[in-house]
Amino acid sequence: MTGSSKSVSAAQQADALRSEIERHNFLYYVQDAPVVSDAAYDNLMQELMALEAEHPDLITPESPTQRVGAALQSALDSVRHGTPMLSLGNAFDPEDILAFDKRVSDTLSGAGLIAEDGQVEYVAELKFDGLAVNLRYEQGRLVQAATRGDGQTGEDVTNNIRTLRSVPLRLTGDVPQVLEVRGEVLMFRSDFEALNQAQQRRREKVFVNPRNAAAGSLRQLDPNITQQRPLRFFAYGWGEMVLPGVGQPMPGATHAQMLDWFQHCGLPVNGQRKVVKGAAGLLEFYAGIGNTRGQLPFDIDGVVYKVNSLQAQEVLGYVARAPRFAIAHKFPAQEEMTLLMGIDVQVGRTGAITPVARLQPVFVGGVTVTNATLHNEDEIRRKDVRIGDTVIVRRAGDVIPEVVGPVLALRPENTVLYETPRHCPVCGSAVERLEDEAISRCSGGLFCAAQRKQSITHAAGRKALDIEGLGEKLVDQLVESGRIQSLADLFTLNVLELVGYERMGRKSADNLIAAIDQARTPELGRLLYALGIRHVGETTARDLARHFGSVDAVMQADEEALLAVNEVGPVVAGSITRFFAEEHNREIIAALARAGVHAKAEVVAAGGGQRLAGKTLVLTGTMPTWTRDEATRHILAAGGKVSGSVSKKTAYVVAGDEAGSKLVKAQELGVQVLDEDGLKVLLGL
Ligand code: NAD
Repeated sequence: MTGSSKSVSAAQQADALRSEIERHNFLYYVQDAPVVSDAAYDNLMQELMALEAEHPDLITPESPTQRVGAALQSALDSVRHGTPMLSLGNAFDPEDILAFDKRVSDTLSGAGLIAEDGQVEYVAELKFDGLAVNLRYEQGRLVQAATRGDGQTGEDVTNNIRTLRSVPLRLTGDVPQVLEVRGEVLMFRSDFEALNQAQQRRREKVFVNPRNAAAGSLRQLDPNITQQRPLRFFAYGWGEMVLPGVGQPMPGATHAQMLDWFQHCGLPVNGQRKVVKGAAGLLEFYAGIGNTRGQLPFDIDGVVYKVNSLQAQEVLGYVARAPRFAIAHKFPAQEEMTLLMGIDVQVGRTGAITPVARLQPVFVGGVTVTNATLHNEDEIRRKDVRIGDTVIVRRAGDVIPEVVGPVLALRPENTVLYETPRHCPVCGSAVERLEDEAISRCSGGLFCAAQRKQSITHAAGRKALDIEGLGEKLVDQLVESGRIQSLADLFTLNVLELVGYERMGRKSADNLIAAIDQARTPELGRLLYALGIRHVGETTARDLARHFGSVDAVMQADEEALLAVNEVGPVVAGSITRFFAEEHNREIIAALARAGVHAKAEVVAAGGGQRLAGKTLVLTGTMPTWTRDEATRHILAAGGKVSGSVSKKTAYVVAGDEAGSKLVKAQELGVQVLDEDGLKVLLGL
């Protein structure tokens, strides 16, 4: 009887999964307060689907795999949709998409509905991470709005929807008698952050993510509250539609034409949509959106593909909870939940004490994350993050992982509040916090090994003295062994002693000493930048170099003289004079000179450095001979500025190979585009 005992345990397993999923559905759809990440929820669903596929007799009509959303439990009135609002099938891998395309194309071939080239045409759209709503227009007037609910019946949010500026109360043009517009209500990420800050100030509920904030804001009994919440809407489909005359054709024969028509009616439709062919076209769209996802102002959790021809959609039809003609292709999760095990502190180059979250390892944004920045003490207080909390960790694109906030519903009783240590964990010096600063700092200066190490690593960096081969590990050893106390000591190293350090062969030691020798004659700007004076970035260092011409002159300049330099304000001037007033910093300068370090004048372009005065340039793509740094240096030397984004104020965009969206933006705005040669002409080189 192994068979039956096996299916008993499968049935139990299915039951357990179902009640777990139902619990999360309730917390997510009814309470707007999930306690597991979407990825964790998706895993449960996948598990249940696999189990049901293996044991089809276990499928019941009540199973979450057969139903949409959660049963209504709301103080809002309920509304029956004209036609059901369904969910979407999910795909996670390219293979799922190949299989979807094959299923679609097989069915359509059978029905003689496939194009001559054998490829199915799709519309690819963004999958907005908000909540679905149905807007019912009669004779072009908005008469009712409802949430999706359980798919058949939703909650009446008419008065709340009326407060959204992007939802037209009247459609324009030749409109049907009845039109149910379907789309997503969502909140931009910046609006979400501002809302949560305000909620916290008022000691009201903070939301886990923009999706839940959007849902919580729309599902309010009092529309005045919804009105204060910055909600947006995008249309992407329709339900019931009653055309004015019998036999009158639809406004479009394809999904793409219908979306265009929506726009003509005054409905907001997101511009990032595309008609593509076959699985290859779908995957290309997915990759393209995946690359630019982080630049969108709102969250998406994937893209959606829909067969374009409405006739083909009808042939393909539906399964219980989703259409067969569409599928959602999900992106890897950018947010996960995990345990905050502790808060460590790091000491930066300028002594800044940064709290860092020590997390139970969690896979998010495509990597396993064990640490995440918490910025500073105020931020921790603001987010109310405590040691022992389950927290949401976000890693979007290449951005360093951050802790978004705690999941309050899961807070245990014994959480511990973070406090900035009073003494530096590296050197034991007092930790200070200036009144007008958010950051606490170790007061040890270069006495603190952490600061010493980082100041040397900074000085060796590409934008400073550019000493190749002096990596972090070697700096650690040199500082820890006491061999290097300051930047000047670097220039007294020799090959023989270097060979004594870990993983230092003769050849690498030779190369490093050669690189150090080269660095003895840096451009003055680089040397000033290498000193690591607070508030003196590369550009300011170069401006100082051009203005004063020597380290001595900068050192002797008083605040008034410093203020005469381009873009140097009181904060920067104060920081420079304080730096040079320190005895040990003056000593380092003297020791550098003794070690044979003598800066040379800055590169100044022909034309007296004013050829590009007042002009802002943007660089994009790879240039044939210059690196970005070189091009930047030449532009700055000619009095120009370099910016990271294109606007109407941009004078020129310099585009190399594989130039990206900046080039497109330049073309859109009519900004002049140059190649490297063009830039050289402009510089008079
Ligand atoms: P879904 O979100 O995977 O897909 C269907 C929905 O996508 C539609 O209802 C619509 O709202 C939305 N959508 C966005 N852009 C669209 C577009 N361009 N065209 C069509 N639809 C578009 O399915 P679902 O049933 O709404 O929810 C399931 C998902 O919700 C899960 O995969 C999970 O991510 C999340 N969830 C999480 C929890 C949790 O506890 N964390 C619980 C329940 C659900």
